[in-house]
Amino acid sequence: MIENTSTAGRISGFTGPDAPTDEDLYTCVHCGLCLNACPTYLETGLEAESPRGRIALMRAVREGRTAITPSVLGHWELCIQCRACEAVCPSNVPYGRLMEATRTEMVRQGKRTPRERAARSIGYRWLLPDQRRLRAVATGLKLYQRSGLRAAVRASRVLKLMPGGLYQLERAAPSVNGKFFKPRGQTFAARGTRRGRVALLSGCVMPLVDGKTMEAAVRVLTRNGVEVAVPADQGCCAALNTHAGERDRARDMAKRNIDSFLAANVDAVVVASAGCGSTMKEYGGLLKADPAYAKKAEKVGRLTKDIHEFLVELPFDPPKAELKLKVTYQDACHLAQAQRITKAPREILRAIPGLEVIEMAESTICCGAGGTYFLTEPAMSARLGKRKAGNISETGAAIVTTANPGCAIQMKNALRQMGSGVQVKYVVDLLDEAYSKERSG
Ligand code: SF4
Ligand code: SF4
Repeated sequence: MIENTSTAGRISGFTGPDAPTDEDLYTCVHCGLCLNACPTYLETGLEAESPRGRIALMRAVREGRTAITPSVLGHWELCIQCRACEAVCPSNVPYGRLMEATRTEMVRQGKRTPRERAARSIGYRWLLPDQRRLRAVATGLKLYQRSGLRAAVRASRVLKLMPGGLYQLERAAPSVNGKFFKPRGQTFAARGTRRGRVALLSGCVMPLVDGKTMEAAVRVLTRNGVEVAVPADQGCCAALNTHAGERDRARDMAKRNIDSFLAANVDAVVVASAGCGSTMKEYGGLLKADPAYAKKAEKVGRLTKDIHEFLVELPFDPPKAELKLKVTYQDACHLAQAQRITKAPREILRAIPGLEVIEMAESTICCGAGGTYFLTEPAMSARLGKRKAGNISETGAAIVTTANPGCAIQMKNALRQMGSGVQVKYVVDLLDEAYSKERSG
């Protein structure tokens, strides 16, 4: 372990309370076993775009051998935070934690242009923590898409004149066309014998773009004898803030959810979005220095269950109706890598009679969504999206299933750009369809 000042007398470039710890930084033994799991290394072949290279840069900054220059920042920014490296590392390097801590330092040291700072202020501090604002923005987007304005804007040159971030946002924004799923303090009764009571995380993006899947999740749970509470005072899980280094706001958001879910008096907090589940399971780490919340955060972390994990452990009732479909499954990074859950979604799919499940190549390589990565690193995001769409097409499946809204949006865009007719659905959508067919048949 090194001191705050390195042996060469240089001052560490990491100084804040959330900076990467030496214990985490010096666990890496440079073996390189993570390299071929890393999407940005696979695409570029560059050491600096690999986990090992990025950790070496963190150490160089820690030891005062380099400053946080724009070039160093660029290598860290290109990391998608998919944590594929963490899942294969034999030394258990907590890469996700290291990168989140590094990004927190980047924010703390103000290593951003004024425009980036303004965008972050709006996105992470004004919009994400407030569900009403998010719904208002989504309603505006829905009107824009439905009114024909979107088609007119796309046909004109206006789009090309927009600043980079807005241009990317317009191109990649999901279709907002269904009903929003709103947490209102509702309780959905269990059907048949009651097997438990859970709280359902509503989240930020998913209830606005995939409200129907949230409703499907409720139906699937109640069909299996689980009472579902949707606390009204919950909010965004803080995944995007945590990954972006906006830790102070993330802590406030986590505390709000902790209070909300502990008051619900439930056996589990069920989460239908992989990115949110992974963040909530790590609330304990986020709030470990907060004496009033540390224990409560650990408790909510333990109560949190990904919906597939929860259904398989329950265990869920296999549907009796057939769905004659060819499907493939995309492992969401924050389910497969961060939560290490790969079997449960496949188990659910294979329990649906008639469903033919075909594995795709590289199912655990990130699709390039990465939260706001499609906005901040559009070129790499598009390359990975294209790679994923190619792997999906090769399976010949009619549907690709996933467990995360970011992946769903990214795959829809990438498949559309490829001219593919493959549909994107969630695993719980298909389970719900099978149950509903069972009822009507
Ligand atoms: S992060 Fe892990 S796998 Fe990668 S080089 Fe370091 S020790 Fe090896
Ligand atoms: S988190 Fe993903 S993109 Fe970042 S270094 Fe690890 S494998 Fe590569």
